[in-house]
Amino acid sequence: MKFFLVLSVVVLAIWLWRSNRESQPGSKPKNPPTSRAPLEMVGCDLCQVHVLVADAVQGKKGFYCCQEHRQRAES
Ligand SMILES: [Zn+2]
Repeated sequence: MKFFLVLSVVVLAIWLWRSNRESQPGSKPKNPPTSRAPLEMVGCDLCQVHVLVADAVQGKKGFYCCQEHRQRAES
């Protein structure tokens, strides 16, 4: 009975060790999507609201949150 108990503990330990080893390399290549391409933020020159570069309106003097602010700042 003692031998069976030791054997079951060893088998359980090996199973845990193997399942840990299998899960580690699989999770490593997965990079969090946030670290891949951080989206750049720019502040509107008129109201200082921060918007993404892709959504910002570029004027002669800088970036703006919308066309209205670009016209107000540059006219
Ligand atoms: Zn603005």
